[in-house]
Amino acid sequence: MNNGIFKIPDPVNEPVLNYAPGSPERVALRAKIEELRSRQMDIPCIIGGKEVRTGKTAVMRRPDAHGEILGVYHRAGEAEARAAVEAARDAKAEWVALPWEERAAVFLRAAELISTKYRALMNASTMLCQSKTAHQAEIDAVCEVIDFLRFNPKYMEQIYARQPENTKGEWNRAAYRPLEGFVYAVTPFNFTSIAANLPTAPAMMGNTVVWKPASTAVYSNYTLMKIYMEAGLPAGVINFLPGSGAAISDAVLASQDFAGLHFTGSTEVFRSLWKQISANLETYLGYPRIVGETGGKDFIFVDPSADLAPTVAAILRGAFEYQGQKCSAASRLYIPVSRSDEFLDALAAEIASIPMGEITDFRNFVGAVIDEAAFNNIQGYIERARASGRAQVLAGGRCDSAKGWFIEPTLILTQDPRSETMVNEIFGPVLTAYVYDDRDMEAAYRLVDSTSPYGLTGAIMATDRLRIQRALTALQNAAGNLYINDKPTGAVVGRQPFGGARASGTNDKAGSYLNLLRWASAVAIKENFAPPASWRYPFMSSED
Ligand code: NAD
Repeated sequence: MNNGIFKIPDPVNEPVLNYAPGSPERVALRAKIEELRSRQMDIPCIIGGKEVRTGKTAVMRRPDAHGEILGVYHRAGEAEARAAVEAARDAKAEWVALPWEERAAVFLRAAELISTKYRALMNASTMLCQSKTAHQAEIDAVCEVIDFLRFNPKYMEQIYARQPENTKGEWNRAAYRPLEGFVYAVTPFNFTSIAANLPTAPAMMGNTVVWKPASTAVYSNYTLMKIYMEAGLPAGVINFLPGSGAAISDAVLASQDFAGLHFTGSTEVFRSLWKQISANLETYLGYPRIVGETGGKDFIFVDPSADLAPTVAAILRGAFEYQGQKCSAASRLYIPVSRSDEFLDALAAEIASIPMGEITDFRNFVGAVIDEAAFNNIQGYIERARASGRAQVLAGGRCDSAKGWFIEPTLILTQDPRSETMVNEIFGPVLTAYVYDDRDMEAAYRLVDSTSPYGLTGAIMATDRLRIQRALTALQNAAGNLYINDKPTGAVVGRQPFGGARASGTNDKAGSYLNLLRWASAVAIKENFAPPASWRYPFMSSED
């Protein structure tokens, strides 16, 4: 029943519900949170559509109440990784043969399930597992997940519609085959939406996938996997493998059918996977596609013409929402000396008023950082800054691990623009400010551009149009996502395609057709309706 040129429904961004007191969504979410807290999950691997329990379990805890156990998951090892590769191989032929609009329908159905039946479940599982507030969960685990699942099919349709030119007697076609082999998706803890996008974008394009979720996000990621299955995803198209990244990668990357890596996470892990792939290059049938979005050291540049209140709001939201654990979170701040007191005083006062605590208390703006390793790492940065003699902690700075991994939103003022908290990705609620001399703006732009190896996001706060333009030009390579008078976080699918360059990744722009193109291998088909019957050309005829 393929006789039609079908059109994917035009996507619109999923509306963000507000969870205000008394709202039906708040009542449903609270009930779901309590339901999940009252039982413990036993999460298997899912290979070829079947649950696999290895018996090698790891405990899942709430970051903001680490005494509270959410359940266990079964860790995959090399044997399960090999089985997942087999399952992906077995599922490929039928999945590829399925008309593309049927593949799209699976993900459109999953989006609908999340928008309705499973909205509260997606939010509650992400809140408890990753310590997100209701709002942070809603924009991630519901709205952005749905947007990926609705916009990507539209991009797929647009890609398939791109066809070459023809001339008389000839028909040229482009077919966008999936990659030959399987795709390995490795996802980070911090966005349930990225965990949704990395396996599903290649799958939509006809690939089969081995998916390794982050160990601290298995709880919410498993919910996604179950929803795809309910939406009709055939067995083996996406195989869910929680466990040690190193062990799973060793087995997966040794397969000759490995055709692509879809990664988001730290620069360090991405580089190690790239090296491993390079070392195995001769094993593979083709050259694997490598797509990776990695770390950031994102800036807010305050021009002397900036308005105070919107700048302070952008800084607070950009640096501290989700405890600064967004790859796009602002972590270095540049303030002009001519207005430094005004900005620093306002920031310190506001930061002191930010409510922090368990995300089950909806009044809190920030929760806990993800785990003990992150807590220790972030605390180390704050302590070293304090001890350096070249920095002051202007606000926050207290760390308390008694009940959860809590680190106060922290503002450091440094005299050294290349101190480690200005250069390294900390991935926590720590913002370092440097006061620049605004009599030499070009020097200030050069400093922002050259301080960090990353190039992910940045924001320019200014009202003077000439200065906005100068800053945009000077900082064009410093970020893949630039914001003017807005926080540098919160990219929306379809509106701000996301990704950075330099050490921040391959800039293949999640949430746009550019990303989906990476999961296709085009074939050009020429058909001749009037093939020549002789090999001789007219110019070869005998002279008159
Ligand atoms: P991470 O690098 O620690 O882990 C990412 C994934 O890689 C996880 O699934 C992890 O288990 C896996 N992994 C770890 N070692 C591995 C190995 N040797 N082989 C295979 N897999 C391995 O990152 P994280 O802590 O989950 O996430 C935070 C990082 O992600 C930050 O650096 C952040 O900037 C980055 N991030 C980037 C973007 C972006 O779009 N640029 C978005 C979100 C997060």
